[in-house]
Amino acid sequence: MYGILAHMNTWRAKAEAVSQSILIRSLSLLIVIMAALMLSSCRDEESSMPTYTVAMEATFPPYEFYQGTEIVGIDVDILNEIGRRNNVQFKLEDMAFDSIITAVQTGKVDLVASGLTVTEDRKRQVDFTRSYSGARQVIIVPEGSPIKGPEDLANVRVGVQHGSSGDTHVTEHICSNPERFTNGALAISAMSAGKLDAVVLDNAPAENHVAGSRGLIILPTPVVEEKYAMALQKGNTELLNMINASLDAMEADGTLAAIIEKRMRENTPEMNQEADTAFGRLMDDFHVDFVKNERWRYLAEGLLVTVEIALTAAAMGIMLGFLIAVVRSTADLTGRLKVADMFCRLYLTVVRGTPVVVQLLIIYFVIFGSVDISKVLVAIVAFGLNSAAYVAEIIRSGIMSVDRGQMEAGRSLGLGYGTTMRSVILPQAFKNVLPALGNEFIVLLKETSICGYIALQDLTKGGDIIRSQTYDAFLPLLMVALIYLSMVILLSHLLKKLELRLKKNER
Ligand code: GLN
Repeated sequence: MYGILAHMNTWRAKAEAVSQSILIRSLSLLIVIMAALMLSSCRDEESSMPTYTVAMEATFPPYEFYQGTEIVGIDVDILNEIGRRNNVQFKLEDMAFDSIITAVQTGKVDLVASGLTVTEDRKRQVDFTRSYSGARQVIIVPEGSPIKGPEDLANVRVGVQHGSSGDTHVTEHICSNPERFTNGALAISAMSAGKLDAVVLDNAPAENHVAGSRGLIILPTPVVEEKYAMALQKGNTELLNMINASLDAMEADGTLAAIIEKRMRENTPEMNQEADTAFGRLMDDFHVDFVKNERWRYLAEGLLVTVEIALTAAAMGIMLGFLIAVVRSTADLTGRLKVADMFCRLYLTVVRGTPVVVQLLIIYFVIFGSVDISKVLVAIVAFGLNSAAYVAEIIRSGIMSVDRGQMEAGRSLGLGYGTTMRSVILPQAFKNVLPALGNEFIVLLKETSICGYIALQDLTKGGDIIRSQTYDAFLPLLMVALIYLSMVILLSHLLKKLELRLKKNER
């Protein structure tokens, strides 16, 4: 009996030490990152100038697009000018175009300035400023295409930007089921890859895209004429009046026309010389995708965001999951904690029963709707809460798989329920479920690739930005995939080592 007890004690101490050190490290990591995020979001607010947040989708040259890691363009110039005249500043948020109206409607941002077309449908949801620019939806086709105008679009594969006025017009008047892309640039690369016959897009970005890709032309007959304006939450008259007054003044003194004219003039990017060999072309593409304009930075910075979110969310998931698992199994084993168990079950049902992207959007737009909170923090909370549900079930299955005799042995040696659970059951459970936990972390890491939905520039979004600038789908996607793959391989390797260490301790 004493022999068993002594053996159990040393093993217990080692296993306990490993699992506790993991928990403590997770906890400290979580605290450090959360504190850093809080501090950084406080610093943003320090500036005394009134600050308004503006949503835009920054793959829309020359209205808004990336130059290096900065968003520039007509809308940005106009906002800067309005800011200068009124002593206010605007904070830009690049987000998916189809989230933009929701963002301003729910008060998540104060303003939309995104080459936004005034439409009757949108007027029901938001207030528009006066219009500051005219535009038209045009048709882009490959050179030599038989498509000559809107009348030829009915039975061909047409690409549009999801949620755009072009999308609505094409769907209602031309062909009921166009192919919808998150932005026009992606539709253009799909057409360059032979997957579409035509793309309907706003004229100014269309001109930029056509200049940047080979073998595409814009048809002379437009599909529809439009006007651009900024949009605000209904009833936000103070900001509306300020912007309208500034736009009027800027029109009167010629600033508006000068901004638009300058950006339009620069709107056709120069094309690189085509290399002769396939390898030469690949090297050229590599240069344009990653080296030119330091585009590799989108991937490097995105990678940091991805790692930060995944690590912190995993730490949060493990701690919360651990707690839930203990509550659930205590209820199962002893019949205590019934109410807490009920809440935990409800939580698990809801979290595991809904897609993580929907949870992320609900947390961002609804729960933190009117709070100005760092998006990284939102993502950490969303992925942490999501992961906790899976971790809880993994750990619970581990606890339940530990032989019941262990609990009885612990109790008969005079240890209380809590001590037996903490010192005997949990360390064994932890060791048993380590592979499953590792797997959950790998899933979590890859799941963070949906962060672009709330306009976070993670690794995947970094690749998207490059694609939208260079119209090359192949290399940016390949590179993003390779980076995720390397992280997963590294992680699997570390987990294997941890497992081996635990096994060794057992002996
Ligand atoms: N003008 C189009 C619209 O409002 C597209 C705008 C955009 O993609 N930024 O729907």
